[in-house]
Amino acid sequence: MKCQLCGSERLTAFLDLGKQPICNSLLTQNDVKTKFEETYPLVLHVCKDCWLVQLEQTAPEQAVFGHDYNYLSGSSSGLITYFKQLANSIRTKVDLKKGDFVVDIGGNDGSFLINFQHPNVRQVDVRLYNVEPTPLPAGLSQKKNIETIQKYFSLSVAKWFGAKAKIITALNVLAHCYNVHDFLCGVHDLLDRDGVFVSQSHYLPALIEQCQYDTVYHEHLRYYTLSSLVKLYRMHDLKIFHVDFNSIYGGSIVVYAKHARGNKRDSQLASVEKVCRNESKYQSLSTYTMFAAQVVSNRAKLVSYITALKQRKQRIVGIGAPMKSATLLNYCGFKADTLDYLTEVNQLKVGMYAPGSHIPIVNEALMLDKQPDYGLLLSWNFEDNIVRSLRAQGYKGGFINPMPQFHVLNEVVSFEDSRGKIVDVLNDEQIEHVNHITFTKDAVRGNHYHKQSIHYDYVLRGRIEFYRQLPYGPVRRQVATEKDLVFTGLNERHALKALEPSEIMVFTRGPRGGHNYETDTYRLSGEECLI
Ligand SMILES: [Zn+2]
Repeated sequence: MKCQLCGSERLTAFLDLGKQPICNSLLTQNDVKTKFEETYPLVLHVCKDCWLVQLEQTAPEQAVFGHDYNYLSGSSSGLITYFKQLANSIRTKVDLKKGDFVVDIGGNDGSFLINFQHPNVRQVDVRLYNVEPTPLPAGLSQKKNIETIQKYFSLSVAKWFGAKAKIITALNVLAHCYNVHDFLCGVHDLLDRDGVFVSQSHYLPALIEQCQYDTVYHEHLRYYTLSSLVKLYRMHDLKIFHVDFNSIYGGSIVVYAKHARGNKRDSQLASVEKVCRNESKYQSLSTYTMFAAQVVSNRAKLVSYITALKQRKQRIVGIGAPMKSATLLNYCGFKADTLDYLTEVNQLKVGMYAPGSHIPIVNEALMLDKQPDYGLLLSWNFEDNIVRSLRAQGYKGGFINPMPQFHVLNEVVSFEDSRGKIVDVLNDEQIEHVNHITFTKDAVRGNHYHKQSIHYDYVLRGRIEFYRQLPYGPVRRQVATEKDLVFTGLNERHALKALEPSEIMVFTRGPRGGHNYETDTYRLSGEECLI
């Protein structure tokens, strides 16, 4: 195996997620009975010369992006809003004139490109092209009156244009393409001397810091830092002059580049260099071995907790069936005898079976009807919204959140009679410290994080607004009321604001209380503050 960036053979495998099927290949009931399901190794490697994190290219491109590929970017309202903002930001960096053209590579259903459609861009008529290889999204893009070329982008596709593009975009594409060098040769060839190439990729430090091993699947061949992108682009005479970060897909990097010897000015080089300097941690093997150890320990905790529940004949289901759930389910070895079913709101998935695990996917309503004892949160990044929504619809069982730090939220009535109720707040958790905190109205606490302790805040009275943020992740806001339990994990920035006089109990594992408290409390200052 050779490094996909620099060609070195000095690669080290640091995380083996086992042999897995392609994560978006859902099966029909008939497939489950008759189809041989192909699996491919899912192993993360790092290059000790250029420090690019990558997968071995074991699954054929056709299998990953074949006819089954049904991901549509237009189906997410959050993405639609984000695309509009990103298009505006790109517009401020490029002076578009009538007749200029814009190419979106891997533009899916055209939801991003339509933001450049007349009259969205200052009444200037520009030509729009989408180079999209997968049939279903390409067809939808065509219907939006966007010239759609159903091909994988390459140098030969770039030559086909016969003219130069003012803007080229590739959003979540750079990690996916099989020959990244041919791809960037094509970008260099197609890009105007004054043009801008904008790419967005999942940011490796976000994956590592949030322990998002479930975002590793065959589609994502490479996991970038800014430093590795700078090296890769330099090989193709492209220069990065501006960088932005956002919380899309758990933490992404948006990189603006131009011809290294082009006419465009370098506007933000200092900030690019500063980000690269801060990434030195990701040029050390110990970062990756520590990450792998954390993944292994997360899996062990989850598997042993679930196994113990099954021994007690508890009914467990999975909540959500996103693509990344396949990696987690298969890595943990969960099958239909572990989780009765996965719930979904996306009707395209309902009635199908998850790849590898063969767990049936059902309508979310079934869970409300059957009231299983526990739901495993597979879209764990939306924990707050899902817990709130399912509780509001009457779900009474517990929630198991597998990532980035395993924890369980319970509200199971274990016993009730004329004397009152006994409710399990926490199960199987080691607590080392408990405190009771009161808030006056509008009081703010927190604006800090802990590196070694986790805590659960249980609201006894009042209404409290929680703000929480994992490194490189979005700020999540949640209003908790009486009997709500809120988990705060390692390195998670958090702040609380009381909307009315309130009272909470805090259950902590790790150093807390008395003289220990300050040793593991890292305060946020100035702009870092969440409130
Ligand atoms: Zn390398």
